[in-house]
Amino acid sequence: MIFDLHTHSNISDGALSPNELIQRAKQFNVDVLSITDHDTIDAYNAIDQTELANINIIPGIEFSTYWRKINIHIVGLNVDINSPVLKKIVKRQHTARQERAEKILTILSQKLNIDITLDEIKQYSINNIIGRPHIAEYLVQRKLVKNIQHAFDKYLGEKKIANIKQIWLDLETIIDAINRSNGVAIIAHPAKYKLTRTKLIELINDFKTLGGQGIEVVSGKQSPKLACELGKITNDHELYASCGSDFHQPNTYSSEPGQFQRLPAECRPVWDLF
Ligand code: AMP
Ligand code: MN
Ligand code: MN
Ligand code: MN
Repeated sequence: MIFDLHTHSNISDGALSPNELIQRAKQFNVDVLSITDHDTIDAYNAIDQTELANINIIPGIEFSTYWRKINIHIVGLNVDINSPVLKKIVKRQHTARQERAEKILTILSQKLNIDITLDEIKQYSINNIIGRPHIAEYLVQRKLVKNIQHAFDKYLGEKKIANIKQIWLDLETIIDAINRSNGVAIIAHPAKYKLTRTKLIELINDFKTLGGQGIEVVSGKQSPKLACELGKITNDHELYASCGSDFHQPNTYSSEPGQFQRLPAECRPVWDLF
């Protein structure tokens, strides 16, 4: 069985609609798929029942939050998408996204000496759930940067002038909301935060104390050595292991749905809990 428990649709910053994403996952023989858009569960309202043949869908979400001033992502899996707690938290995150977008646009307008309005950026998003990739796309279209990567490297990425921090709900609130929605909280792509091993263990300990249950041991194209190390850490902390492509769009260097290595054999897969 192929499980892909971390993917994005165009409801957040992916290229494919939820239905197209499911079709693509089937092309790559995914048996169990979670669409984990950034801070939204709207994809689940856009799925046609006819797409659900020959695949199992696990409702999910990727929350933006922070730990010790470091932005991190927590995936919530098998959540009840009708949960009032989840809906409330999602709404708060949307407000935070909106406020952040406005701050980013103010900075960019000043820096580039042009007027950029929120309405212009909204055209790049569906449901007005604005992420930095939408702003990057706008900058590319206006020929203010060469490409998306350049927009992050120059303005939007870590430590750049338009990177706004600490706007999200905190880790405790996010994990609590996932648990109260009957879901499982997972630390997404732990290697992406560039933490030292000591810091990573501290994050994992705090995460577990707050009710977190799993770690993404395999995230897209990563080295087998890393999966082995993360698998061991996950087992040492008696946590469950998850895996996902973090798919955003077809035909790029990043991995396609289901196209990543298997979890290390000694890991307890998170789907044991579903
Ligand atoms: P946001 O959720 O609005 O903070 O945007 C984060 C998303 O932007 C990530 O999930 C990636 O899809 C994308 N992203 C983050 N950093 C980069 C980067 N350096 N280059 C290209 N895309 C990036
Ligand atoms: Mn993304
Ligand atoms: Mn992420
Ligand atoms: Mn993701």
